[in-house]
Amino acid sequence: MRRFTRYLHTIRLELNNNVNCTRLPSLANFCVVPKSTEEQKEAIIRSAKSSTLRTSSKYVASQQVRKYAPTASSMTESACWNCKEKGRKNHMLCLSCGFLQDVDMEINYFHLLNLSNKFSLEPQELTRRFRQLQTLVHPDKFSNKTDREQNNSADWSALINRAYKTLSAPIERGQYLLKLQGEQMPQDNSALNKEFLMEMMELNEEVADAKSSEDLQRLNEDIVQQLNVAVKELSVSFESNALSEAKSLLVKMKYLQSVQKSIKNKLQKMMGG
Ligand SMILES: [Zn+2]
Repeated sequence: MRRFTRYLHTIRLELNNNVNCTRLPSLANFCVVPKSTEEQKEAIIRSAKSSTLRTSSKYVASQQVRKYAPTASSMTESACWNCKEKGRKNHMLCLSCGFLQDVDMEINYFHLLNLSNKFSLEPQELTRRFRQLQTLVHPDKFSNKTDREQNNSADWSALINRAYKTLSAPIERGQYLLKLQGEQMPQDNSALNKEFLMEMMELNEEVADAKSSEDLQRLNEDIVQQLNVAVKELSVSFESNALSEAKSLLVKMKYLQSVQKSIKNKLQKMMGG
């Protein structure tokens, strides 16, 4: 039991680096990332991009006089900022003048990548669409365009990356789908049964006791299988709109993923001597 407590402490530390959750010592770490954190990340990505992409004094000057801001409605209702034409629904580019529009921060990631709001998707298709979009808004294409379009291309690029990252990983995709439906991840372990918690405790004991990398790899393979099964179950849950079932599965998957992380850490330590 002591080990299990220690394990919980470890994942708490790991997750707290990214997630701002304080309800301890429950399994509060398995909550969704607060929006503010996501926004911060977005800002960091954007500023990193801008600093590498544009360092000219002309760009710096243009940033200082930037009078517009990305809006939530720029894609749907408002007119093109260049030609003032309306009705360019779901297009990054104005269909009339071809100018790159301001980023729509509230856009649904599935819609952005031209997919339906469904958990099950074809990973290769997702990657194909991601690459297409990135090519479309690539900053190189806008280096000779207006400052506003240069800014927009960096903004879109960051948003597309974030959407792709979210939809690529089943756990993140599942949490995102829940969020779209106004649902939150459970703040504690009430979504899990005791049996599963005991199983996880034993699994952690096994990881702690493992003496060789072979043992660890065998444990990891077992987790990979369990995760694969859970992904299939999750797909069925979303298909039948069984959202509380989906939540339990997601919490379970996060548990498994954290055990996987400790296996990886231990393996790295073993390899590093
Ligand atoms: Zn236009």
